[in-house]
Amino acid sequence: MNTTLAPTKTINSPPKVGFVSLGCPKAGSDAERILTQLRAEGYEISGSYEDADLVVVNTCGFIDSAVEESLDAIGEAIAKNGKVIVTGCLGAKSGVVEAAHPTVLAVTGPHALEEVMTAVHANLPKLHDPYVDLVPPQGVRLTPNHYAYLKISEGCNHKCSFCIIPSMRGDLVSRPIGDVMNEAENLVKAGVSEILVISQDTSAYGVDVKYRPGFWNGRPVKTRMTELASALGELGVWVRLHYVYPYPHVDEIIPMMADGIILPYLDVPFQHASPRILKAMKRPASSENNLARINAWRDICPDITIRSTFITGFPGETEDDFEMLLDFLQEAQLDRVGCFTYSAVDGATANKLDNHVPEALKKERLSRFMEVQEAISAAKLQKKVGSLQTVLVDEITEDDNGNAIAIGRTKADAPEIDGVVYLDDGVDLLPGDLVEVQITSADGHDLWGGPPNH
Ligand code: SF4
Repeated sequence: MNTTLAPTKTINSPPKVGFVSLGCPKAGSDAERILTQLRAEGYEISGSYEDADLVVVNTCGFIDSAVEESLDAIGEAIAKNGKVIVTGCLGAKSGVVEAAHPTVLAVTGPHALEEVMTAVHANLPKLHDPYVDLVPPQGVRLTPNHYAYLKISEGCNHKCSFCIIPSMRGDLVSRPIGDVMNEAENLVKAGVSEILVISQDTSAYGVDVKYRPGFWNGRPVKTRMTELASALGELGVWVRLHYVYPYPHVDEIIPMMADGIILPYLDVPFQHASPRILKAMKRPASSENNLARINAWRDICPDITIRSTFITGFPGETEDDFEMLLDFLQEAQLDRVGCFTYSAVDGATANKLDNHVPEALKKERLSRFMEVQEAISAAKLQKKVGSLQTVLVDEITEDDNGNAIAIGRTKADAPEIDGVVYLDDGVDLLPGDLVEVQITSADGHDLWGGPPNH
């Protein structure tokens, strides 16, 4: 099947896209989704190469003759129009396309609606229509204006025995890096000072697409955590990574933290330290030597803040396992830690494990755990007294006497889950301001401070 679509009426000169579709019904259905999205965004579909502002060629790569037909179609579009985006099955072999036609603007594989649209937006921006574009470019957000969560993927490829997310949300699906970066840029343009990268497993970003390169600002960027962190670092705002598992490639982003490209903050959910329990939990990267890794990270970036979460009373956890966890805490000297008692989730495979820990023992271990960690966290915060910290102001409120005080966070504190800094003079401050603060006191969780040399 070779379909070149008929032209539609022109209104206010909207941008025009030519569309050539080759191949089977599955390719046809991909084409329909792309065409629907193009029309929904106000693009016109042009029936001729000459009249189009750019051309999308939806290819087939099933047999040799289909590859040839697709390469010919791309060549014809380049000759007659010049601006060509390639998608479809032959796009999965981007090397073949680029070798034959090095001037193509972008190459995506099959089922790549978002990537095709990213490439179209990058090369042919859509018209702004105030009657259609009711949603601002940065989207509708639930967080305050100065920080935002940036979701980079859905689902998860792991099968942790206490978790049912993979069965609810499916396997990992990474968002195209071009879309993620465009969203991040729009957030920054809208005034966001801090981007919090979230997913179920940030270190796995791009595994599902084999780290395929996408396009951002006309240049190729790999769909991979390191490249994403580096690109986000170019936006000039705080970038904080959450849910990073301790795989060896995580070491690559620590120098970026040391160089101030992204925040020196790593949220690594270790969950336990006993190899036996980690194996029963089926945790990702469970065989890594986490202590050695943490020490290596601190050698490269001494200021790094490491946050983690743990579970006490997982089925089969013995006193020895638990003490191994306490020893780990003592040695790892983590900055911020959350801990929960194990609770069975409907449908989780851990429910079927033997030797469930009695509720009272789970709680007793939780309080022993927190006692150890609170002392570590408090000592770490005490060391900050007297230091200068950059603080991002989150809110202005009043103390008991009606004086304005500001509440903010240092680079070491994520919103909602970590501590805050109380600033005793908030009169001239606004949420989103970045201020230099001298820390004057600390408790086990929060800091207090004021202007330098206060
Ligand atoms: S807990 Fe494990 S299975 Fe669940 S989302 Fe996280 S990594 Fe995936």
